[in-house]
Amino acid sequence: MNQSISTAQKEQLIKRFHYSEETKAIIEKENLLPEGVLNRIQKAYPQHSSLLEKEEFHFNDKKNYSGLEGFREIVSILANFGIEIGHLEERELFIKVYRFMATKHVLNTINWADFKNDSVFQLVFPQPGMIRPDVTNAYLNADSAEAKEKIVKDYIRETNPHDGKQQLNKPTFINEDGEIEVIEGSQHKYPQCKLIFDVQTQNCFAFCNYCFRHAQVRGDDDMFIQKDVHQIHEYLKLHKEISDVLITGGDAGFLKADRFEEYITPIIEDPKLSHIKTIRLGTRVLTYNPEMIIAPAYNGMLKLFKKLYDNGIQLALMSHFSAPREVLNISTIAAIRRLKAHGVTIKSQSPIMNHISLFQKENGEVDIDRSAQNWIDLGNVFAMLGIGFHSMYLARPTGEFHYFNQPVAQINEVFSKVFRELASLNRPSRYITQTSSAGKISLLGTVDLPGEKLFALKFNEGRNMEWMDKVYLVQYDEKENTIANLKPYRSDRHFFEDELREIEQKLHDSIETGRNK
Ligand code: SF4
Repeated sequence: MNQSISTAQKEQLIKRFHYSEETKAIIEKENLLPEGVLNRIQKAYPQHSSLLEKEEFHFNDKKNYSGLEGFREIVSILANFGIEIGHLEERELFIKVYRFMATKHVLNTINWADFKNDSVFQLVFPQPGMIRPDVTNAYLNADSAEAKEKIVKDYIRETNPHDGKQQLNKPTFINEDGEIEVIEGSQHKYPQCKLIFDVQTQNCFAFCNYCFRHAQVRGDDDMFIQKDVHQIHEYLKLHKEISDVLITGGDAGFLKADRFEEYITPIIEDPKLSHIKTIRLGTRVLTYNPEMIIAPAYNGMLKLFKKLYDNGIQLALMSHFSAPREVLNISTIAAIRRLKAHGVTIKSQSPIMNHISLFQKENGEVDIDRSAQNWIDLGNVFAMLGIGFHSMYLARPTGEFHYFNQPVAQINEVFSKVFRELASLNRPSRYITQTSSAGKISLLGTVDLPGEKLFALKFNEGRNMEWMDKVYLVQYDEKENTIANLKPYRSDRHFFEDELREIEQKLHDSIETGRNK
């Protein structure tokens, strides 16, 4: 079959997306979809690409579908096309506990002809088996709406978003009155990077099933919310070790241009902030709503990105791609090219998750080859579009972790294959990591000693950055799925544990003093 894309096919493709006339003009004028790019991608990855799909999309009216009502609407639209996703009550239980939202774009990214095996379907749609069987069975068998609601409420209380003691990452500083002030919408755990959870970014375009930030996106009491921009600049002035500011959420794609300008203007103009080198935006917009970036309403934001670039400040858009199909559609490709043309660095970091980017064979074992191939293809797609492969990581044990995780030993095999099969330039920039309160710990690989097998670990970031200087050994474990739980080798505790406890205590005391002032 001729896989190349002609000019007429490209026009048909653009028609399929129902862009506005203004967006079409931007695509044309800014050369966002050159045939050379589309053809090369299509030839390399026909198995992942949607570029030659022709049928009309199933979702053309609303921009997004939210909550139970939105989910039921999707189910009924799909039914019109003869598609039954099944397990509706169980899927709805998940939605009641965690929420649901999907954009038109992401719904149209799913290959509905084979939705069960589609990574994007697995990413956005609640799946049977996600909520613990005892809770699910109790819910399905409850005989009244009140009893069902009680099960949902009790279960919400059990879910644990802040396992890594994130509340301890809230920075404090001495304000102009000499008092300790807590910055409630921020985290500063590692010296070079400060996180901001801006008040405008407390939302997502769509919800990922595995989200560990469900306190943020569900609206729990212990959310991080930053209202005061000035407070951030005051803190940054006192912390010359900070080079990177990461605006996150929720999704930083929700930040409006005038609010973003408030953050960046002092950073560009005030010499006391000249130590800031990079602004990162943590966003899944390229997966869920890339049309936003190619619309004229985004021009104001692009101007600010260019201004940063022209002032020697890197704007890094941190995307979270897990599978090539998320990238290989014309809206995402055009959005990537538009951002890059305005001086934006695009990087991708994402967790390796069962059913989405980590696959099992029928006998339940991890399919090492298929899983690795997903990431190898993704890494090469990144290279073709100029995206930096920042990292792959193991999710923290929060949310429905049991559904998404596999043993560290298996992940190590997948990651090793990805690392050795990608050209060095296209590999993830670090070994696979998992976050705990102590820091981000990288799994370097296995060590075979006479009569024993071990894992070698190394901190990639740490509450004390000097911990990064050491490689340390832990016992090999075939079943353990959390790096921080691996047992120390020939010792009753890891080399950093006593110091970690002291650091945590100090942080706790400082936050309490600030709050009680
Ligand atoms: S975009 Fe990020 S914060 Fe929002 S649901 Fe997905 S993982 Fe969670």
